[in-house]
Amino acid sequence: MNFPKYSMGIGDRFAHQGKAQLAAFVRAKALGVDVTPVWNKSNREHNIVHSEPASVRAEADAAVRSLNWTGAYFVDADHIGLQTVDRFIAASDFFTIDVADFIGKAADDATLADFVAHYSRYAVAPLRVPGIEGAFQVTVQQIDAIGRKYLRAVIEAGKVYRHIEAAKGRDGFVPEISMDETDSPQTPVELLFILGAIAREQIPVRTIAPKFTGRFNKGVDYVGDLAQFEREFNDDLAVIAFAIKEFGLPADLKLSVHSGSDKFSIYPAIRRAIRRSGAGLHIKTAGTTWLEELIGLALAGGEGLRIAKDVYAQALARFDELCGPYASVIDIDKSNLPAPGDVANWTGDQYAATLRHDQANPRYNAHFRQLLHVGFKVAAQMGERYTDALQEYEPVIAATVTENLFDRHMKRVFLDD
Ligand SMILES: [Zn+2]
Repeated sequence: MNFPKYSMGIGDRFAHQGKAQLAAFVRAKALGVDVTPVWNKSNREHNIVHSEPASVRAEADAAVRSLNWTGAYFVDADHIGLQTVDRFIAASDFFTIDVADFIGKAADDATLADFVAHYSRYAVAPLRVPGIEGAFQVTVQQIDAIGRKYLRAVIEAGKVYRHIEAAKGRDGFVPEISMDETDSPQTPVELLFILGAIAREQIPVRTIAPKFTGRFNKGVDYVGDLAQFEREFNDDLAVIAFAIKEFGLPADLKLSVHSGSDKFSIYPAIRRAIRRSGAGLHIKTAGTTWLEELIGLALAGGEGLRIAKDVYAQALARFDELCGPYASVIDIDKSNLPAPGDVANWTGDQYAATLRHDQANPRYNAHFRQLLHVGFKVAAQMGERYTDALQEYEPVIAATVTENLFDRHMKRVFLDD
């Protein structure tokens, strides 16, 4: 299955913004840049809003029909495992196989010994990877340690891959392997031997999502050392190109950046790296679009603004419940959250300016934004009150959704000079 060089994961909680999102890709295409849309929705998200994977397929197909999109597009079963994959099989043609839970679990001794013996050839002499300055002094102990940490996870990925392959055929889907939802980032050397393990497991992986250095909090900018990120990102690209040749992995294997929305400060580094290396890229966004829905509702005024304010008031009242599942990917200082009584008096413009990710605007509040990011459960529980408002105020919401995706995301990652 052909999977184009540049792709972007998109998605929205309530399956109403398919067209508005696709419109951003239409704009990029008109400017000569082909980016492939991949509608993603995780199992966790489906469970929170009580939706089924078929609704994502329906949303994507309808958007493609209505905008006459003739390019490729995909529907991603995001962060699935053996326990959760089945309900995604029919609707999806991209599978993000998440094996982070198996990192650090032991593979059996014979399999580990076999892995170490196979790759100990890289410990004989300094290992040079084209594109990376200097050489890695890899030791057998290091390969053993990487095997102990990651081999079991890759074996699990193989099980999930073959489970999907049995249903859809080898050419019927794009497999991604994700290891981003874990505590410590993978180094380029770890990534190299993880890819070695994936090759031995015979998974024709097309995108790999490591955990990068720094914090990738939901809906807000990157926090970390920009120079270190850039070095690591470039090294990861070099390692992937090397692994493709060394291990016979698919020639179009590319990096996948998860929680990629709103990471404005690292976009220039990513753009430079893919331009310089000629590598492909998959970058996932989704939550950012739900926040644009709220911005659009606020700007629309009337019932739209009332809903936006209610979502905030309820999210604040349910702070612990809503933030709990996302604790490792948000940093909210409660003392920086506005009082609901104040918010109640805001105009739509004030609400939008506080929420919109424009760091140059003095009203912008990253704490407010992160709380609302995890507050979509409140909107889900509003049921038709919320989705009726999405219909009623569609034009203003669609404009904010498209503008955010195109101007603040796609343009900065793929187009700007
Ligand atoms: Zn992820």
